[in-house]
Amino acid sequence: MSGADQYRALIEAYALGSLDPEERAEVAAHLETGCDECNEALAESRWLVSQLAYLAPESEPSDMLRGRLMQTVRAEANAAKAQASPASSRATSAIPLWMWGAVAAALLFAFYNAYEARSLQKTIHGLQDSLTAQVRSQQETAQQLALTRREALILTDPASVKIAMPAGRKDLPVLQATWHQELGIIVSGQKLPVPPGNRTLQLWLIPKAAGAKPMPSLTLRPDADGKFDLLVATPPDSQSGTKALAITEEPDGGSPQPTTAAIWVGAVAGQ
Ligand SMILES: [Zn+2]
Repeated sequence: MSGADQYRALIEAYALGSLDPEERAEVAAHLETGCDECNEALAESRWLVSQLAYLAPESEPSDMLRGRLMQTVRAEANAAKAQASPASSRATSAIPLWMWGAVAAALLFAFYNAYEARSLQKTIHGLQDSLTAQVRSQQETAQQLALTRREALILTDPASVKIAMPAGRKDLPVLQATWHQELGIIVSGQKLPVPPGNRTLQLWLIPKAAGAKPMPSLTLRPDADGKFDLLVATPPDSQSGTKALAITEEPDGGSPQPTTAAIWVGAVAGQ
């Protein structure tokens, strides 16, 4: 290891990836020969730039500034290369040329890093978004499973009361309601026409008490295939207090009182 290592001066620029492909290949080949000094310098300058990265300004580098820094690094590197005579280099200059190169390189990296940090941030945000979406979809799946289980229990429990809900119009299918005292009401049907615009279907509980107003329950639009599957886990009234179930078409979000005539009605038998 004499002082004549021409690659040593290129290490900082190498660490930044700012060398020509040709120079880069030369330095890489040299590093692979296992030159201790150059490999150490590489580790050191990587450490240095990683430290400086934390101080990076929050702005993207201007092309002009980046270009100038690049030139500086190159000029220093070339000067060091040209000056490969061992006598002149370290002895005459208190601050080795490579260090100026390193400073410029570190600055350059800091600016680069600001740019990188920006795009990394975007990537992280993207990842967070997709993670959030995944968590949400898992929660939805779990929720869906719980609902499906609940629906299965309601539908299969012999204690559930079945309520047929015919429509006032012949062209509409009959809906089937199933009411379990503790688990809630399911209203389901196939081939329902999809209500126009934002309108939706809303379930009502018609109380037995004379003169009592219909109690609003949940809303649901049939899906694109006309499938309707409404689960009301906590009905606003008990079976024994309810005379009938009714469904009307209402504006999106439902209404506190029916604003249209009931399309489907089913009497709650027994009790
Ligand atoms: Zn070397």
